[in-house]
Amino acid sequence: MQTYHTPLDLVRERSPERPVAFARPGVVAVAARWFQDNFQGDVFYAVKANPSPWVIETLVNAGVNSFDVASIPEIELVAKYAPGARMAFMHPVKSRRAIAEAYHRHGVKTFALDTHEELQKILEATDGAEDLTLIVRLGVVAEGASYSLSGKFGVPMHEAPALLLAARGATHGKMGVSFHVGSQCMRPTAYQAAMAQAQRAIVRAGVMVDIVDVGGGFPSIYPGMVPPDMADYVDSIQRGFADMSVHEETELWCEPGRALVAEASSILTKVELKKGDALYLNDGSYGSLFDAAHVKWPFPVKLYRGEGDDAREVEGPLKPFRFYGPTCDSLDHMPGPFWLPEDIREGDYVEIGMLGAYGIAMNTRFNGFGDAETVEVSDAPMASMFGLAGRSIRLPREEREEERKVVRLSRPKGAAGKKRRKR
Ligand SMILES: *Cc1c(COP(=O)(O)O)cnc(C)c1O
Repeated sequence: MQTYHTPLDLVRERSPERPVAFARPGVVAVAARWFQDNFQGDVFYAVKANPSPWVIETLVNAGVNSFDVASIPEIELVAKYAPGARMAFMHPVKSRRAIAEAYHRHGVKTFALDTHEELQKILEATDGAEDLTLIVRLGVVAEGASYSLSGKFGVPMHEAPALLLAARGATHGKMGVSFHVGSQCMRPTAYQAAMAQAQRAIVRAGVMVDIVDVGGGFPSIYPGMVPPDMADYVDSIQRGFADMSVHEETELWCEPGRALVAEASSILTKVELKKGDALYLNDGSYGSLFDAAHVKWPFPVKLYRGEGDDAREVEGPLKPFRFYGPTCDSLDHMPGPFWLPEDIREGDYVEIGMLGAYGIAMNTRFNGFGDAETVEVSDAPMASMFGLAGRSIRLPREEREEERKVVRLSRPKGAAGKKRRKR
């Protein structure tokens, strides 16, 4: 990977024709260390958030050596870039061949399930293995997520006790529960509430669990979505765990995806045309901007202009813009609003931040586009949950007002007046 100090240095050196993804390994390392220092259990990285080799290698170097995988290609990726790492196959619906290959060829022992049928598949495909760790995915009711993950997976809570009993009886290894409160969870108390539901199912089943896996959902910062401190999430989980009747050796696991990588990547796109308040860029919803198009997230932006030594970052006065991507599909539209200098013009470069999770991972080659290169940079992310950007996000005043409103609305009752932890 080529290395520059900042995105502006790259614009200075060579005005790129194709989109450029920026990798900030140092930012992933800081997030990884934060989780290890603050989460009182095992941290599994959910590979789907960003399967880039540099992410896997950085995590291993920073001490995260456990991975939540969902497919054989993800398993092969981890085996290649993190040899010897521990993997948990957490997709609740797997093919028999994938289960067999994971167990027999890659030594994966941990499997998630949310039905009796899947439990049977796992037992048969591993030839009745006796050393399995079986994790029952619970369909808890959770509030506060910006991206709900309920509905598709998770055993309904009234059916959970029978499945817990069956899983307990099916293995001589460990048995546990997991859930996912939904991605970009804005409410720390959602974890404690989910753990209380898990506790009820466990008591009703009359079983002991060896693992409580609180899943992912840990948030990042986006304009209009500034979550409470990450420490509040860990506190909520500690309280929830303390209230569960588990045995002394019961392990606590988490599976963050977004929180470990969101800050670490941004993408540099070129303005090909300006049409009123619409900017036609060379990256879009089939590239790194899926969430900007389909869930209308207004990612933070910076503007660079000029070539060689004249290249510079341009600031205000700002105006709201919307983006179109390069494909011919009219769905390739990102409504924003993206606040950029009002005199933005063709040939300028827009850096779009906070795309490390579910951003650069979503790239397709549709319509002949999406061929972005990746370079390494070492500047600060546009916003940070880990103190790297002073928790500030570049927004005009009106937007900041909006942001404050959203934060007030999303703050759980009782925590509003709570003093923020010093970071
Ligand atoms: C996607 C996923 C995660 C990661 O979720 P984030 O919201 O990115 O933290 C964790 N666990 C499972 C099972 C997932 O499917």
